[in-house]
Amino acid sequence: MTLTRRSALVTGSTSGIGLAIARALAREGANVMINGFGDAEEIAALCRDLAAEFGVEVDYDGADLSDPAAAAALVRTTQARFGSLDILVNNAGIQFVAPIEEFPAARWDAIIAINLSSVFHTMSAAIPSMKARGWGRIINVASAHGLVASPFKVAYVAAKHGVVGATKVAAIELANDGVTVNAICPGWVLTPLVERQLQDRARDAGTDVLTESGLMLAEKQPMHRFTSPESIGAMAVFLCSEAASTITGAPLSIDGGWVAQ
Ligand code: NAD
Repeated sequence: MTLTRRSALVTGSTSGIGLAIARALAREGANVMINGFGDAEEIAALCRDLAAEFGVEVDYDGADLSDPAAAAALVRTTQARFGSLDILVNNAGIQFVAPIEEFPAARWDAIIAINLSSVFHTMSAAIPSMKARGWGRIINVASAHGLVASPFKVAYVAAKHGVVGATKVAAIELANDGVTVNAICPGWVLTPLVERQLQDRARDAGTDVLTESGLMLAEKQPMHRFTSPESIGAMAVFLCSEAASTITGAPLSIDGGWVAQ
């Protein structure tokens, strides 16, 4: 257990990658604040199970990260609940796919607010106490789409490039404060976010999800397999370790070779 007595906030951790990161941090002994949407009873059970399995404290705050004040308040709530916030994982994200000329302005606003602006608001709220304590880890879940583009994802690609930029700025500002700031850039990970895209593609093409999974992987990744959410959890744990204490400002790809091309 390498993270005993550390406290973490993982945004968007009721599902997918965020849940896997929360589990991985809890397994290492960190207390964890869960955030995101979902069925209240299922989330309560998830918190109970995590706490029991790993012997840590787990709590839930359903703050809507499209609201700047709620994002900052989520940080303060976590600090009050656990006494500190040592590990901030900005993971919450949404997707929408359409050509630019058909992309609804409201979808652009929502994606920029949740995928990008919330990263600024939580970092801004969390940094002062991390600096004061001389230790912190900020991990922003960006994407291969933070480094390269694809058509029909204008808001997502713009937001994720923004996340990589904000990560670099924070890393430079905090370089001598014991706080590292990095961006994880996954390729395809089979989560509800990608399952929805696969279902849409299968519907539009008159095929099935399995066929579209193969095509989707082959279009982007030299390696034709999904990254598991657990692998991203393991990467987050490594970034919290002493061995990773000079890794900062880095966009770290875990993408089956997607951006190597
Ligand atoms: P997911 O849909 O399984 O999970 C998204 C989480 O964010 C959920 O917990 C959801 O409740 C939460 N969320 C959504 N809107 C929110 C809001 N307004 N306020 C608070 N929480 C909110 O998706 P995922 O695939 O696990 O994605 C997690 C992150 O990983 C996202 O930032 C996504 O862009 C990124 N990512 C995913 C992939 C992939 O292939 N799945 C690849 C690269 C990057």
